[in-house]
Amino acid sequence: MVFRQRLVAGGHFISLWSAVRCRRLVSAAIGKRLPLFMSHGQGLANDDGQVRTKREEMSPLGEDLTRQIKFLGPLTVAQYMQSCLTHPRHGYYSTKSAVLGSKGDFVTAPEVSQVFGEMIAVWIAHVAPQLDAPQGFAVAELGPGKGTMMKDILRSLRSLHRLPRVIHMVESSTPLRNLQKQNLAEIATENSVSLHWHDSVANVPDVGTPDSSENALPTIYIAQEFFDALPVHVFQMDKCGAWRERLVDICRDETSSDSPFHFRYALARGDTPATALLGSRYIPRELSDPDTSDRAVCNEARAKSHGVSQLRGDVVEVCADGIALVELLAQRVSRAKSAALIVDYGRDESSCMMRSTLRAVHAHNLTSILSRPGLADITADVNFNHLREAVQRSDAEFHGSVTQREFLLRLGAAPRFRVLARNIADNVRLSDHEKDHMLKQLQQDYDRLVSKEHMGDIYRVAAVTHRSIQAAGF
Ligand code: SAH
Repeated sequence: MVFRQRLVAGGHFISLWSAVRCRRLVSAAIGKRLPLFMSHGQGLANDDGQVRTKREEMSPLGEDLTRQIKFLGPLTVAQYMQSCLTHPRHGYYSTKSAVLGSKGDFVTAPEVSQVFGEMIAVWIAHVAPQLDAPQGFAVAELGPGKGTMMKDILRSLRSLHRLPRVIHMVESSTPLRNLQKQNLAEIATENSVSLHWHDSVANVPDVGTPDSSENALPTIYIAQEFFDALPVHVFQMDKCGAWRERLVDICRDETSSDSPFHFRYALARGDTPATALLGSRYIPRELSDPDTSDRAVCNEARAKSHGVSQLRGDVVEVCADGIALVELLAQRVSRAKSAALIVDYGRDESSCMMRSTLRAVHAHNLTSILSRPGLADITADVNFNHLREAVQRSDAEFHGSVTQREFLLRLGAAPRFRVLARNIADNVRLSDHEKDHMLKQLQQDYDRLVSKEHMGDIYRVAAVTHRSIQAAGF
């Protein structure tokens, strides 16, 4: 049963629609953190007694990638991931609009509860008066999904008398853009907010950008579960103790295989552009430069002499696009005196993390990233430390990261949930049974957003601001 009840809260109508919709499966949020390597389908015994695994059906993107690899050679994991997610015809986000929600593959915080978007609105309302924005300001959302969070933000900013003049949506997926338009058209028109869509942040007009028009406004940027969808380069130590970029190749022998997939991992033989560009900064220095030119001495003994034996096979992930994006945001917010907020699952550790977090999720289950490219969401933990280091090299300031729990509670999530609960309890049009159901649901939503077992500790929040801007919640 779905309730569509509008209740008065603090003098404003607050929709409880999002608070009582079908919820995200808790396992989906936590499951996305499980390791990459999955069980490999069913093994089939042949006449010779050897176990052979049945090849899965090839996906449309798989056909494209196979042709590409046959022609140009193996792809980096980053190229493969980018195609899987945003390939214009067969990419995961390009083909479906129903990826989010309990009927999709995963559920995000704005889809759990309206309170999430409301707290982001509180954050924006705190930053907005600090901008030099006599003509008004803009909000840009990166990867807005269904548009649910932006709707909650606009509703709340209207209540807080801090509406932006312009909304910029950075979205690569045509089906999701259409869904966002449907969900936002009415509230934007009602409040005279103009809506614009862009393929990338670089195309969002902002004051101070070289090609900014006279109408450009100072812009507050919000990225909720966007950075985790950006492609990562994966480096792996080979058996000689050298770090090599992990590639995706095709399984050339179609007749015999112990894998159900048409693709397999391979290691680059020498340096790739990414190893050369990223290696010195992001791969542990003492391990990044064994003398691999002399293959004769490339053996177990030498690897041991580098003290790397216990690390062999471990991986380092580097999200070059995420680092470039945070550099762009840092440049923009320090030039135009503004701020950006980043919410995502990930870690914030100064020591180099050597484990794989890359994973694929389909219908709330983990699958291998090599399985049926384009049909599953692929994602990796965000390395907030890499983002901090990038911002520290700029003129902007980095705040956090803090856990989602800390951030939401500091901005007032607990009292806001209490107001919603009181509105349900006081609503004379609801039966006791309906009230019970809605209050239970509200409690569950609160737990999912802030409790340590659910999203509270897994998700982290960071802000990038002009040095003079004070950011709430940190
Ligand atoms: N922020 C939303 C959706 C997260 S899913 C929420 O929390 O519910 C990731 C979103 O980013 C989707 O809207 C997807 O289409 C978009 N996206 C992924 N990669 C992108 C890219 N490279 N450029 C623009 N949008 C992208």
